[in-house]
Amino acid sequence: MTLNVLVIGAGMGGLTAALALQQSGHRVEVVDRVSELRPVGAAISVWSNGVKVLKALGVGDAIEQASGRMDTMAYHGKDGAPLTRFSLQPLYDQVGQRACPIARATLQQRLLDAVGEDNVTLGLACTDFRTTESGVTAEFADGSTRQADLIVIADGTHSALRERALGRPVERRYCGYVNWNVRVAATSDLAPLESWVQYVGDHQRVSMMPMSGDPATPEFYCFFDVPLPIDTPNDPMRYRDELARHFAGWAEPVQKLIARFDPAAMARVEIHDIEPLETVVGERAAILGDAAHGMAPDLGQGGCQAMEDAWVLARALDNADGDVAKALKAYDSARVERVGEIVSRARKRAETTHGADPDATQAWYAELAGEDGSHIMAGMSKTILGGPLR
Ligand code: FAD
Repeated sequence: MTLNVLVIGAGMGGLTAALALQQSGHRVEVVDRVSELRPVGAAISVWSNGVKVLKALGVGDAIEQASGRMDTMAYHGKDGAPLTRFSLQPLYDQVGQRACPIARATLQQRLLDAVGEDNVTLGLACTDFRTTESGVTAEFADGSTRQADLIVIADGTHSALRERALGRPVERRYCGYVNWNVRVAATSDLAPLESWVQYVGDHQRVSMMPMSGDPATPEFYCFFDVPLPIDTPNDPMRYRDELARHFAGWAEPVQKLIARFDPAAMARVEIHDIEPLETVVGERAAILGDAAHGMAPDLGQGGCQAMEDAWVLARALDNADGDVAKALKAYDSARVERVGEIVSRARKRAETTHGADPDATQAWYAELAGEDGSHIMAGMSKTILGGPLR
C-alpha cells in the first residue's frame, strides 16, 4: 500500500530513508530547514554495513567509485614509533565489502541526486507535529502545514522533534573531547596513500585516512582529537596555533599536517552523544539517524547506523501492508538494541582513547604494540555483521 511519508531532515539519514521508501513505492517528501545543503565536516568513513545498504539501494557503486582506497591500517606512538600495521583485506573478505571513506559533500550529493531534488524542499523548518485520526500533521516555521501517513524524524543530534515523539526531553552528553577535522592533499610524506594511519599519545589522537576516489587529486581525511573542557573558546584563526601547542613534539608527519591544513576549511566539534533511547518510535513517527542515536564517532558508525535504520524502516513497512503502527513496532524492535549497543560501545571506545581512565588508556597503548590486527578487525567485523544486510 502506498503511503505519504514526510521526512524531516535531508542529512545522510533522511535522504537514505527517502530513497529506501521511494523504492518501496511510497510518496516521499523531504524537508530541511537549511536553504543550501552543506554538510558540516570534511569526510566520513562509510563502513561495509553502510555501503551494503547503499548498494542495495543502487547508489553504492557510485559511492565506492568516489571513495578512497583504504587497504591497510596503522597506529604509531606520538614520537612516530610504529605500534601496529596490518592489511584490512581479511576484514573485507570476511564481511564481503570494503569500507568507503568519502567527502561528505559527495555522499550527500549522490543521495540527493538519487532521491531527486524535486522531492526535497529546502529552507523550511518543521516546528511541530501532531497526530490526527487519519495521519499526522506537521507544522512549519512559515505557518504552513503538511499531512502524511508517517513522519520520519531525521533532524540530527539536536533534534527538537524527537521530544514530541517520545513525550520527554532528551539531553546530549559531552564525551569529553574536541575533534577538529579537515581534508588535506594526500602526499606520502604524511602517510602511505592507501593506509589509514593514526598517532596516539597523551590521550590525544591524530588520524589520516585516504578518501579521494580520484587518483589525480588524492586527499586525506584528517582529524585531531584533544580532551578539553566543554565550551573551550572556538576561534578558527587560532586552530593552527592551538593544535601546534597540543601536539608539540609529536612526529614529523603530524607537524607537517598542522603546517598544511586550511583552518578556514576545518570543522571543530565538541563530541556529544545521547543515552541509548528506550524506543525510537512515537505515534506515526519513526526517529532515525542521529536524532535516534547520536553517538561518539569513535567507531565511525553514526552515519552507517542511519543507513541501516533507513533500510530496516522500509522493510518493516513492506511487511506490514499499510499498517503503520505494526511497521513502527517492527522497526522499533529491530533497532533499539542494535543502536543502543553501538552507542554504548562508541562511548566506551571514546573514553579509552581519550583518557577517561588513564590506566585503561595506557593499557590500550600497550595492547596496540602487541596487536597484529586480529582483535581490531574482530571488533569491526562484529559491528558490520550485526547489520541487516549480511
Ligand atoms: P544530520 O546529518 O545532522 O542531518 C540532519 C538534518 O536535519 C540537517 O540537514 C538539518 O538542517 C535538518 N534539520 C534539523 N532540524 C530541522 C527542522 N526542525 N526542520 C527541518 N530540518 C531540520 N559516521 C559514520 O558512519 N562514519 C564516520 O566515519 C563518521 N565520522 C564522524 C566524525 C565526526 C567528527 C562526527 C561528529 C560524526 C561522525 N559520524 C560518522 C557520524 C555522522 O556524521 C552522523 O551520524 C550523520 O551525519 C547523521 O546523519 P543524520 O542525517 O541523522 O543527521
